[in-house]
Amino acid sequence: MITVNKSIKLLEQIAEGWRNELIPPQKLKKVIETVSKYRLNICEECSYHSKNHITKRIDAHCTKCKCTLTAKTKCLSCRCPLEEPKWVNIQEKQE
Ligand code: SF4
Repeated sequence: MITVNKSIKLLEQIAEGWRNELIPPQKLKKVIETVSKYRLNICEECSYHSKNHITKRIDAHCTKCKCTLTAKTKCLSCRCPLEEPKWVNIQEKQE
């Protein structure tokens, strides 16, 4: 069962990913782009990428965590949801 604290953390991470996708902080812009590009390349090769599944969604997403990949890969505190993650978080919280 998902705890309240875990739910809050997930919501914060979703907000972080979309914030960084839509209005990235100027000082993190380059890092976010570099990290996202690196992670997206990994996701492209992953069997959980939506391109390898039949789905009604038009966005490229992870079929494991259901996140939109352009946003998820820009969340610096996020990591791939697999037990053995294919990419990891690079910081816990953004300033
Ligand atoms: S986030 Fe992880 S599981 Fe999901 S598509 Fe990317 S590499 Fe695969």
